[in-house]
This record gives sequence, C-alpha cells and structure tokens, in this order.
Amino acid sequence: MSANKKRLKYKFIVINARGSINSHIPPTVGSNYETICGMDGNDLSDDVQQSVIGESDKLDCPQCIGIFDAVSICKERDILRLE
Ligand SMILES: [Zn+2]
Repeated sequence: MSANKKRLKYKFIVINARGSINSHIPPTVGSNYETICGMDGNDLSDDVQQSVIGESDKLDCPQCIGIFDAVSICKERDILRLE
C-alpha cells in the first residue's frame, strides 16, 4: 500500500475554530495543515484560535465537502501516477 493510500484510524478530524465546530478531511501526505481545506488544527494564537477536539465518521465542513465534490469527477483511470 503506497503512502498516499495509508488508512487513518478515523475518517474525519473535528476542529473548534473560534467556537465554530466542524469535521474536516485530513490530508494523507505532504501537508503542513491538519485538513485539506487548510485548517491549522492546534493553533491558539489570537488570529487563528483553533484546536483539534476529536474525530468523526461524518463530514460537515463546507469547504472540505466542496473539495470532495470537485475531485469526485476524477476517476482512477483519469490519474497518471508517476510512482
Ligand atoms: Zn474543512
């Protein structure tokens, strides 16, 4: 199994961002962010104020859902893997 298909223990990560709580898609590899929509995750600085508070099997972040919808048009046969 390649690194980018590594299974996570959970499907989604729950983040509290300034009191707004949503579940997000975590990146699989090569990201400095906790989610594919660009959330920092644990960063309590004044301008970010985010903390990871749990895990979930349901996705409700509108940005992550939008990314899912956009990439869902792509099928495995459309991908040219170089590894
Ligand atoms: Zn998200």
